[in-house]
Amino acid sequence: MIEIKNLSKFFSTENGDFTAIKNINLTIEDGDIFGIIGMSGAGKSTLIRCINLLEKPSEGQILIDGQDITSLEGRNLLILRRKIGMVFQRFNLLMQRTIRDNVAFPLEIAGADKKQRLQRAEELLDIVGLSSKAGAYPVQLSGGQQQRVSIARALANHPTLLLCDEPTSALDSLTTNSILKLLKDINHKLGVTIIIITHEISVVEKICNKVAIINESEIVEQGFTKDIISNP
Ligand code: ADP
Ligand code: ADP
Repeated sequence: MIEIKNLSKFFSTENGDFTAIKNINLTIEDGDIFGIIGMSGAGKSTLIRCINLLEKPSEGQILIDGQDITSLEGRNLLILRRKIGMVFQRFNLLMQRTIRDNVAFPLEIAGADKKQRLQRAEELLDIVGLSSKAGAYPVQLSGGQQQRVSIARALANHPTLLLCDEPTSALDSLTTNSILKLLKDINHKLGVTIIIITHEISVVEKICNKVAIINESEIVEQGFTKDIISNP
């Protein structure tokens, strides 16, 4: 379970302090597909960067299974980061490396040997349905296929949490549906908790069991998707 308590992030700018997120309270339970929806500039990326510890919050706590992660440092911080997989809007693949090597990259960083890396890459490509592309390069793949590769890479270290920042915003609607279905399968079959940041209600409707609406740095509503978003 992830409990976010009174989380705020202020940036100092030349015009004084700027509040990117303010007093955020959220509870994400194991197995949730939790949507965070809001307009551009609402604070979504800042929130996700705090959860992934790329940004240090100014105030508040993030408890994962009761442990406050905001005060972690050094080795403990690295270990925790490995337990969180990230998926980005623009895939962020390494263009000079094969699909296999992209997927295995986090394992290389973690110091796994070559045999382990290749074996895990094979498993991961099987999960995302791209075994036949192992030796190809990113440029040879469609956008949807590249996003599948980035999802496989995000799973490399057996994360318990997958953070997806606008994972389908660069994709057409058919491809979007297939990526959302893949995320749902991963949630279901691997038991990975998923947080999805999006500005599209349709994404939330399709796969999120819970949702929080963020507006001008604050959460204005949260709960079960069926209670928050009404289907006409
Ligand atoms: P979203 O992801 O919802 O578009 P962001 O979290 O990226 O929103 O940004 C929220 C606000 O915080 C924006 O106005 C943005 O310009 C500002 N912001 C984000 N990061 C920084 C930073 N490092 N320094 C100053 N302002 C920032
Ligand atoms: P995204 O498309 O993911 O919302 P952004 O354009 O909001 O990305 O932000 C990209 C990066 O720039 C982030 O690291 C964010 O913290 C930083 N950033 C955003 N706005 C500002 C700002 N006004 N000043 C400084 N850094 C910012």
